[in-house]
Amino acid sequence: MLGLMQDHPLLISSVLEHALRSHPHGQIVSRTAEGRMHTCTYADMGRRAKQMANALTRLGIEAGDRIGTLAWNGYRHMELYFGVSGMGAVLHTINPRLFPEQIAFIVKHAEDQVLFFDLTFCGLIEQLAPQLPGVKAFVAMTDRAHMPSLQVSNLLCFEELIADESLEFAWPTFDERRASSLCYTSGTTGNPKGVLYSHRSSLLHSLALCTQDGFGLSSADSALLVVPMFHVNAWGMPYACAMSGAKLVLPGPALDGASLYELMRNERVTLALGVPTVWMMLQQHVESQGLTPALELCLNRVVIGGAAAPRSQVECFERDFDTRVIHAWGMTEMSPLGTVCKPLSKHVAASLEERLDLQSKQGRALFGVSMKVVDDNGVEVPRDGRSSGHLLVKGPWIASQYYCAGEVPILDAEGWFDTGDVATIDSDGYMQITDRAKDVIKSGGEWISSIDLENAAMGHPAVSEAAVIGIPHEKWQERPLLLVVLKPGRTASKVDLRRFLEERVAKWWLPDDVVFVDELPHTATGKLQKMKLREQFREYVLG
Ligand code: ADP
Repeated sequence: MLGLMQDHPLLISSVLEHALRSHPHGQIVSRTAEGRMHTCTYADMGRRAKQMANALTRLGIEAGDRIGTLAWNGYRHMELYFGVSGMGAVLHTINPRLFPEQIAFIVKHAEDQVLFFDLTFCGLIEQLAPQLPGVKAFVAMTDRAHMPSLQVSNLLCFEELIADESLEFAWPTFDERRASSLCYTSGTTGNPKGVLYSHRSSLLHSLALCTQDGFGLSSADSALLVVPMFHVNAWGMPYACAMSGAKLVLPGPALDGASLYELMRNERVTLALGVPTVWMMLQQHVESQGLTPALELCLNRVVIGGAAAPRSQVECFERDFDTRVIHAWGMTEMSPLGTVCKPLSKHVAASLEERLDLQSKQGRALFGVSMKVVDDNGVEVPRDGRSSGHLLVKGPWIASQYYCAGEVPILDAEGWFDTGDVATIDSDGYMQITDRAKDVIKSGGEWISSIDLENAAMGHPAVSEAAVIGIPHEKWQERPLLLVVLKPGRTASKVDLRRFLEERVAKWWLPDDVVFVDELPHTATGKLQKMKLREQFREYVLG
């Protein structure tokens, strides 16, 4: 017997319509690619999203067509998020930090019909346009006054494109499982792979974000998205903010510590989301300028994800900012959110040290994500917080296959997706990543967690960033090498670091050598590029 309830598909257009009815005056504040500030409301955004849907229809765009964007976090990008997906087309957000060849590959693979771009990327567009005959129009996300003169034949201007369009557009109703957006993984090995999200997966994921054990979003929040809208839908926040009515603060291309701090203060940001590297820049700015964020900001929580949150970073937010850290884990294939680290009632009276221990874990699975840890034979290991193995997940916002990648299965027979992460789960359900399977250091048949070692090294007051890689070793198979970037004006010797680590990790984990470097390579999404480091130090002889 079927239930007797109304059957409404979960569509992204329904989120926009809700925002227009419930919080039309909610604000969207953006720093534009040109540097000036821009403020609009959800009502403005909705009107312009409808104009965009009309304009794209006029250009011949149909349901299912892919529309590419090379853009920072800003209001025009929001309009595309809702206008493109709302009309039934697919928003393909492209990471501009990828190599130009990778971008060309992605645009061709996705068969993008139209490519929108921020003015920052004019040079890139000029370089790529001749290789992209399938793109019908390149649209500069600006007005006539700022239009660049480019050697691109089919060039359009965003504001001109929508100017004369009707403010009305009847969003079509269709199957909620239809595709809404497309994002390619960074592809550290081989070509990038496309993850194709659906309206249903995006809405369910955003609802989970809003819950108290998610990010606890509400209309009283002012949310700063440092996490880019060109990567995994900015962790689903554009939809979740429109759902909840939170004020949205979009930093454009200015991701340096000073610009972020200014935005946090001026826009009274209560929640900010980003990867550890951007928070490192913010904390360095605060330290070097002698600022007092706890007094000047009202940042009550910060989400750290995309890479392990260093304990020292969590401590700095707690101590200097008086901000609670929400450590979160996920991946492109998971929309991206899988786990969020929030305390249980039994942790209410925890000391700072105990809280920091807890926050170094990646957290508990949200409703909608099932996860388990298995050994090499696929047998589930105990949930004791010690037994580690391969982390597998399944759920309604997790990919079932890659976009146009043949029929290659990515799930096992029972529907589990292997995340490629090595982790433990404890009896309360807290998951902790010990490593990427390919980064773990295999020493004498045992595993050394590069993340734990990096975290310990970053606790040293002179260390700004640390990376640990395995170096081939005759006797032990692999041994850890520690690479360190020192904070400006600070010094520390190899011996200092070794002594510091001796008190924090098992003796056999101690790095065999320490190398001081000026900087460490990062991927387009701000993660340490261990593969590059392994290549660079392939011939290194441990001292
Ligand atoms: P990319 O496109 O660079 O692969 P993803 O966001 O898909 O970007 O990367 C997902 C991976 O990032 C995860 O499998 C995990 O290894 C790592 N990761 C994400 N969040 C965390 C975290 N909080 N702690 C440790 N590792 C993380």
